[in-house]
Amino acid sequence: MPALDAVLVEKIATAESIRRLRAPYITEREGETYVLRDNKDYVSFSCNDYLGLSHHQLVVDRAMEALWRYGAGAGGSRLITGNHPLYSELEAALADYKDTEAALVFGSGYLANLGVVQAVMGKGDLIVADRLIHACLLDGAQLSGAKMLRFAHNDVSEAAQLLEEHRSQYKNCLLITETVFSMDGDVAPIAQLGELALQHDAWLMTDDAHGLGLLKTKYPEGLPTIQMGTLSKTLGSYGGYVCGSKALITFLQSQARPLVYSTALPPASVAAAIAALRVIETEPELTMMPLKKARQFTQALGLPKATSAIVPLILETEERALSAAADLLAEGFLVLAIRPPTVPVGTARLRFAFSALHEDDDIARLANVIRNASWFKETR
Ligand SMILES: *Cc1c(COP(=O)(O)O)cnc(C)c1O
Repeated sequence: MPALDAVLVEKIATAESIRRLRAPYITEREGETYVLRDNKDYVSFSCNDYLGLSHHQLVVDRAMEALWRYGAGAGGSRLITGNHPLYSELEAALADYKDTEAALVFGSGYLANLGVVQAVMGKGDLIVADRLIHACLLDGAQLSGAKMLRFAHNDVSEAAQLLEEHRSQYKNCLLITETVFSMDGDVAPIAQLGELALQHDAWLMTDDAHGLGLLKTKYPEGLPTIQMGTLSKTLGSYGGYVCGSKALITFLQSQARPLVYSTALPPASVAAAIAALRVIETEPELTMMPLKKARQFTQALGLPKATSAIVPLILETEERALSAAADLLAEGFLVLAIRPPTVPVGTARLRFAFSALHEDDDIARLANVIRNASWFKETR
């Protein structure tokens, strides 16, 4: 066996032995909430397409028009020939929606976080971040060379303590959190963290991947913010973005490496995001539905009231989370088990993501199955 494979096979065996080996499963999405796996239909509670916009008629039509008009690919990076006219339309719409001076679209949310944190921060700077921020923010922080300190999840007083102790020894300081936490579904205390940033001469960066369109975040007056998000979840398309001041965007256009050195998004993805944003702005009732559905679920099970479209059910061990997911699959529900390193060790879980288009009956049936499961009773 070649040396490379020998090394990898051993690593694979290790991951498998602790139930951390993962592989993509062929999954065909059929409309907004149904998926097909191995020729069987499931109701999916694992898609981040919270409003079903990936299959919305207007969104798909706009993507098709862009495909015919501009072709399948962008043909170059944005700084060369890839900056097709749909980009400025989307960026203007995002800045308007977020009430910022400007916006910049990236290849994905991952690339946006990676590029922004790396470009804005550097050696001699300080990043103070929530313990549970997304992997791509951590990667960006590492690439930046800035010092990083982390506070316990949503713990404003620990964040304050870190800033009091360390802020003065560094040049620039960036406070990073998510608006809605991707694996926990809880909401960050943005107003308090914002005040803290103001007090300590720091900037605030927020990741709104799971909040965009569903939850509006208010920021303290006069606080410099970097508001990141994705086109790939509620907007049902693909890509990432950053909203902020004109200076921030001008700087990032030439300094964010994932933007400079990677091909622009396909025009159809940008067109879809423009249309989806329009749907969100014109159908406020639709945007309230995912939270409403999540609350039907938490109420049916006597769980703490949902604070977003995401509801975690912590089952602690990998084994229990996997067997719970298998039980639900057997009942026709696709709910993926989320395991370390995506979540901290000892907090393996089922993560339920609710869509505006989930049927009430399906939610009731799901809750019923869970209520009677041994793994649910064991952890209550
Ligand atoms: C999904 C996600 C991202 C990455 O966005 P993509 O567009 O999927 O690359 C970033 N941050 C958080 C919190 C996410 O959940």
